[in-house]
Amino acid sequence: MAAVSFRDIHKAFEKTKVIHGIDFDIADGEFVVLVGPSGCGKSTLLRMLAGLEEVSSGQIVIGGNIVNDVDSKDRDIAMVFQSYALYPHMSVRENMGFSLKLRKAPADLIRARVDDAARILNLAHLLDRLPRELSGGQRQRVAMGRAIVRDPKVFLFDEPLSNLDAKLRVAMRAEIKALHHRLKTTTVYVTHDQIEAMTMADRIVVMHDGHVEQIGTPLQLFDRPGNLFVAQFIGSPAMNVFTGTVRDGHVEALGASWPKPAGCDAASGTEVKYGIRPTDLRVVGEGIAARVVVVEPTGAETELLVEVGGQSMIVVMHSRTDARPDDIVHLAVDAARPHVFDAASGVRL
Ligand code: ADP
Ligand code: MG
Repeated sequence: MAAVSFRDIHKAFEKTKVIHGIDFDIADGEFVVLVGPSGCGKSTLLRMLAGLEEVSSGQIVIGGNIVNDVDSKDRDIAMVFQSYALYPHMSVRENMGFSLKLRKAPADLIRARVDDAARILNLAHLLDRLPRELSGGQRQRVAMGRAIVRDPKVFLFDEPLSNLDAKLRVAMRAEIKALHHRLKTTTVYVTHDQIEAMTMADRIVVMHDGHVEQIGTPLQLFDRPGNLFVAQFIGSPAMNVFTGTVRDGHVEALGASWPKPAGCDAASGTEVKYGIRPTDLRVVGEGIAARVVVVEPTGAETELLVEVGGQSMIVVMHSRTDARPDDIVHLAVDAARPHVFDAASGVRL
């Protein structure tokens, strides 16, 4: 196992700069998720860590050693991709043992390691099959088994669940987490799916346009997003955001008065973006008037799409409701719940 550091990493392809100075540390044994929209540079950063792509400048450190000039195969990492990249003509056992065979490990050691990994991943009964005789989830598990067999210092995952259907994705998410809990190998996991990031990570690194927006535990990012980008990226349904003006002790927006959170010291007159999560809007007897547009009961919860002063917003109720389209409901916000951002810079106030 090993700690990992990115030190002022820049990357350009020809003249196109895609990573603009990334700096953070991953502790030994930590499970870190890189999350961000497609094209923000997640795979490029991971591939530089793996040694599959050169850095333009900066240092990559694994286990205390700068590895910029170390070959991928000598970095002691194992990578699992979205496309499982299994050898079609090899059995599951041969696929899982192949990297050790390449390194000329003794046959009985390979057999023991593969048997171990197969037991952990519930693949023992499939070892003689070919990849084409497996389901998508089983293939993904073989790809993970191949990584485990190598007993690397660091596991790298690049969107490993993207090819699976929704139900299997949830199951595999739990399996990968359980695997990490068991092996405690430092893991860097890339996804564009914020729910995957929230549910799996010890810490999340939110990336956007080749830089880091914020790093924190899932709940730190959810409770105190440092800027508007993170606020709207993390959380589902997404945070409601609208423009307002700070007045003494409250924020004026959409023709109504909204509570100003206690920690926010923005001066009266400041133009802000006011953010409130759908679960933090309560339907009450008296409050901010909202017109119901759509009612979506999901059983446990009810999602209301409403309109306030011409602005659409989502309210998640933990109860059932008689509300129908065109009804007027009233909304309240607890003063501790909203988020206020500078209108121009998007930085949390
Ligand atoms: P992500 O994994 O977050 O979707 P990538 O790391 O794949 O993003 O890509 C980041 C940016 O770098 C994108 O604009 C992409 O087009 C560009 N890029 C990635 N690989 C190459 C390459 N080999 N040559 C040129 N541009 C590339
Ligand atoms: Mg990618």
